[in-house]
Amino acid sequence: MRILISLVSSSTPTGLHLLSFSRRLHTKISPFSTLIGLKPPPAMAASEDSLRRSLAEKQSSIESQGNTVRTLKAANAEKATVDEAIEKLNALKLDKSVMEKQLQAAVNGNGPDGSINKEAFRQAVVNTLERRLFYIPSFKIYRGVAGLYDYGPPGCAVKSNVLSFWRQHFVLEENMLEVDCPCVTPEAVLKASGHVDKFTDLMVKDEKTGTCYRADHLLKDFCNEKIQKDLTISAEKAAELKHVLAMLDDLSAEELGAKIKEYGITAPDTKNPLSDPYPFNLMFQTSIGPSGLSPGYMRPETAQGIFVNFKDLYYYNGNKLPFAAAQIGQAFRNEISPRQGLLRVREFTLAEIEHFVDPEYKSHPKYSEVADLEFLMFPRERQISAQSAKKIQLGEAVSKGIVNNETLGYFIGRVYLFLTRLGIDKDRLRFRQHLANEMAHYAADCWDAEIESSYGWIECVGIADRSAYDLHAHTVLSTVYDRPLQYLTFYGGYQKLVIAPVKKELGLAFKGNQKKVVEALEAMNEKEALDMKVSLETKGEVEFYVCTLGENVTIKKNMVSISKEKKKEHQRTFTPSVIEPSFGIGRIIYCLYEHSFYMRPSKAGDEQLNVFRFPPLVAPIKCTVFPLVQNQQYENVAKIISKSLTAAGISHKIDITGTSIGKRYARTDELGVPFAITVDSISSVTIRERDSKDQIRVDVEEAAPVVKSVTDGHRTWADVWASFPHHSSGSAED
Ligand code: AMP
Repeated sequence: MRILISLVSSSTPTGLHLLSFSRRLHTKISPFSTLIGLKPPPAMAASEDSLRRSLAEKQSSIESQGNTVRTLKAANAEKATVDEAIEKLNALKLDKSVMEKQLQAAVNGNGPDGSINKEAFRQAVVNTLERRLFYIPSFKIYRGVAGLYDYGPPGCAVKSNVLSFWRQHFVLEENMLEVDCPCVTPEAVLKASGHVDKFTDLMVKDEKTGTCYRADHLLKDFCNEKIQKDLTISAEKAAELKHVLAMLDDLSAEELGAKIKEYGITAPDTKNPLSDPYPFNLMFQTSIGPSGLSPGYMRPETAQGIFVNFKDLYYYNGNKLPFAAAQIGQAFRNEISPRQGLLRVREFTLAEIEHFVDPEYKSHPKYSEVADLEFLMFPRERQISAQSAKKIQLGEAVSKGIVNNETLGYFIGRVYLFLTRLGIDKDRLRFRQHLANEMAHYAADCWDAEIESSYGWIECVGIADRSAYDLHAHTVLSTVYDRPLQYLTFYGGYQKLVIAPVKKELGLAFKGNQKKVVEALEAMNEKEALDMKVSLETKGEVEFYVCTLGENVTIKKNMVSISKEKKKEHQRTFTPSVIEPSFGIGRIIYCLYEHSFYMRPSKAGDEQLNVFRFPPLVAPIKCTVFPLVQNQQYENVAKIISKSLTAAGISHKIDITGTSIGKRYARTDELGVPFAITVDSISSVTIRERDSKDQIRVDVEEAAPVVKSVTDGHRTWADVWASFPHHSSGSAED
């Protein structure tokens, strides 16, 4: 999806350049020739690449051996010689078919043992999700509508858990100001934000039937299909197609149209020719009130509700910066041809934060709490130079300027913690920096939290430093405020970090290198400088790496003064910058489903059972209560425990049917319920943990408090396992 940006700097009626209105997603400002100039991205795994080469070599060996056989036969060579040549030919063919299987496995992404491919895995997950009503295609009894889904009971519970953790992790932790604005939005607001003119995707039409397709999707399908199904294409052709895939988001309408023609792509359903690509606005249009005179749209994002309320929120916050506002709500995008299940839908829940900050002071007081985190990052330099994502310490990324500023770094770290605590696998989560040509020109820096799923790497959270763009746009276009909505006059003092190298001492110590040391000291960020200050005060000297010298030097206390000075500044006028983390809740939840799903054999080994290993935090139901057999006394105990669980606020399910306990466990494992209390006596009960299937025995009165302590995270299962007698399940799980 993109907001297409006119390269001509045509002006809007307000005098602002259309370029300034680019909002979200991929801003096309570089010609394709520049993109072609980039090295192909690191998409092709070495094994796939070498398999394609070996396969091509094997094919030419087969052809030449085939010629040998034919020549020998034509020359009436001895039977033994012909047989030997045929045997060699057959051996080569056998090798080729083994290689084809290996290549097919490599492109399908099968596991190392070739066990399950991505599609089969996805099918298993989706079948379970639909059968257990995590989600339901909306309006199913009327054949449904593409891109619209209902969440059924467990899906609703998971979503509500994810949102309440989001509120706790972000809104509560940062004292954010939460708002709740309408979905129906008047045109003027979305005109100012740029959506009315620019919130578009490129569409092509079947020239005969008029059926619409998303142009980049058709090109994407063509490339993927060729790579995955045509094993005869050369390694070079595969690399070219992968390069096109990597650059897909950056292609202009003309470039997309040219590629579609070059590859001979036609309408998938009819094979009819396609029109040239043209932009289609993704907003659902409506009109507000009966007259039809007041046009409006269903909001495509929640952020604008915060921007238009900025002045009041700033006042509510005591006229102080920085502060953040947050909103959770529905967003609507009329996707051209929604596919990929819950990942691309026409109505979805967004959770957005707008953190307003003085553009000159983007440090964050809690930055040090996340600076040591290390995770997969994919800076633009690595993307451009065909390298893959790499584990980088966040603090290092900020201090080296890879991440533009501390506040952006702080939110990247907080998003990492949020997603991994939900249960997203940290090895299938990466933070990818936008390429320069993907970012709007006003944006200082943008990173996407991408999660790997069976559909590939999916953008689930966008984290962008959008500078002052949105507030500025509304200031100019708002018809109500007589003074600018967002220009702040800043009174009073603030703390400014002052690094003052003592040049005389540095000159004495470093002679000709003095200049480089001074520059390196002055270039320190706030955290580095404050760390140095502490070391100098405690130890008197510190080792300091000067990158322009490529070595460490010893800085002594008398060589630099580092202080935080109170600076008085009156009437500085500025527009706050905004740092915006934007979470697609449905996408996060779907990826969580895939990361949590696994299958294990039943005890008898005759069946594969599905399990979601949700952490208690997100599990739709935290606990089940089962009387082992149908018996009034056990049922009474089960009801008592159920009452205590309700009183403790633990969502649970009581099942007094006579079904075998093994079947009841399997049913709830499939819903991801982490704990099961089984009543097998009137004084004590067992508690089973879903993934290990381990059971402990506790007194009836202890059951609810133990489950509460582990679901609240006060204790781990290992803690309770160490504290209570173990119970052996015997044949119960059958
Ligand atoms: P954007 O404003 O386009 O950056 O989108 C913000 C977030 O919304 C993305 O990071 C996605 O997680 C999510 N998102 C965008 N479009 C869709 C869609 N059609 N269906 C589901 N989630 C979406």
